[in-house]
Amino acid sequence: MPKRLIQKIKGLITGNSKPAYVRREIPRGEHHFPEEDIGRSVLSVLDTLTKAGYEAYLVGGSIRDGLIGMHPKDFDVATSATPEEIRGLFRNCRLIGRRFRLAHVRFGRDVIEVATFRASHQNVTEDDSDDSHQTDEGLLLRDNVFGTLDEDAVRRDFTANALYYRHTDGAILDFVNGYDDIRHKRLRLIGEPEQRYREDPVRMLRAVRFAAKLDFQLDPATAAPIPKLADLLGVIPPARLFEEFLKMFLSGHAEPVWPLLNQNKLTRWLFPGAAPENNTTPAADAMIQLALRNTDLRIADGKPVTPYFLLAVLLWGPLQRQWATYCADGIPVAPALQKAIQQVIHDQSRHISIPKRFSLPMREIWELQVRLGQRSGRRCEQTIQHPRFRAAYDLLLLREEAGELPKGLGDWWTQYQEADAAGREELCQNLGQKPQKKRRRYNNRRNRRPNSGAG
Ligand code: ATP
Ligand code: MG
Repeated sequence: MPKRLIQKIKGLITGNSKPAYVRREIPRGEHHFPEEDIGRSVLSVLDTLTKAGYEAYLVGGSIRDGLIGMHPKDFDVATSATPEEIRGLFRNCRLIGRRFRLAHVRFGRDVIEVATFRASHQNVTEDDSDDSHQTDEGLLLRDNVFGTLDEDAVRRDFTANALYYRHTDGAILDFVNGYDDIRHKRLRLIGEPEQRYREDPVRMLRAVRFAAKLDFQLDPATAAPIPKLADLLGVIPPARLFEEFLKMFLSGHAEPVWPLLNQNKLTRWLFPGAAPENNTTPAADAMIQLALRNTDLRIADGKPVTPYFLLAVLLWGPLQRQWATYCADGIPVAPALQKAIQQVIHDQSRHISIPKRFSLPMREIWELQVRLGQRSGRRCEQTIQHPRFRAAYDLLLLREEAGELPKGLGDWWTQYQEADAAGREELCQNLGQKPQKKRRRYNNRRNRRPNSGAG
């Protein structure tokens, strides 16, 4: 008998099919949700739906963030209208998603996500099978069974994410004790944790991401099954994991995410080569931590950040190991590097797929680590003009700061960038090197150690 059916029967026998939560309303005036932050376009979506006779609420991250004093960044709407009904009400509306169908309503540059209330899959009939698709292991492949407001609340992931704001009177509706959990800075899964992770293993990553972002404690029952279930992430398409990677590492809270991923044995699925259990070096770990801190600082300062730089750092340790192995096998240094790059990208893409527009620059940053060590005048000018020079130089500085390389080369390149033409020539001459006419041939230098960068 399928596991899901067994679960359902057990639930019916024990009466546990629905957790016992109490509905609560927190009226305007008793909560501190910053209503003034709600944009006009969001209000207009809520208004249009309500006037057409549907229920409509703000839900999810915006309420949670607003209640803890963070300015909500995007607003999600939950409604009793079906996707087709939503489309009928808005001209600028597109239905998206197959696993989870929802509407995107566009107002200028704003896109508001409008989702129909969902129900649990426990009472699904044959007729619904097009909308509900769950494997025997419990994985939800399709989550389009529509339901009521209270059913929608309990199918959400965390209690803190399941609060609804009613714009008509400013009340917050709570079905799962989320309001108190937020006040106590507690992140708790709704329902039975293992079952909820099996339905969607990405919830394990969301747990870690929200705990880091909000500085919340993971509730012990929510945290307990994660290390044991971490490998379930293997059923998630690598492209979806790339999206999650961006949210975890490029939303301004990457530094606290990393130790949580490690403690919960999640790194070994996301970035196996950088997971502490896979013999990483202290320098490689330090580099990652420094890079994550820098990334968060840049985001806090409103500066741009790129996924390829972080990926180049996260995979630098595995790349070095692979490179050294190929060199030890007798492959000359330069082809060994190329082969190692290919291997590392290939291995990684079974876990998190890296789009070409990011893997190409990542590759260039790595290749430039060799060129940064070659400081004859002509080569230096070519290197500094390379579009990825700046990122490669940043990686070099990180390697030095993390103790992988002795300090020196990074400083030299700092001076080189700041110098005029005469200064640059002098810097090269001081190394006792003359500009080179011919390209050096690597192929003759078998078995050299992978570039230490110290040139
Ligand atoms: P943020 O936008 O800050 O990342 P969020 O909580 O708004 O956080 P979204 O991914 O935008 O996260 O999702 C909106 C809401 O949809 C969540 O708050 C949660 O209620 C629900 N949700 C999202 N993903 C899942 C999931 N995998 N399982 C159950 N509910 C989910
Ligand atoms: Mg959101």
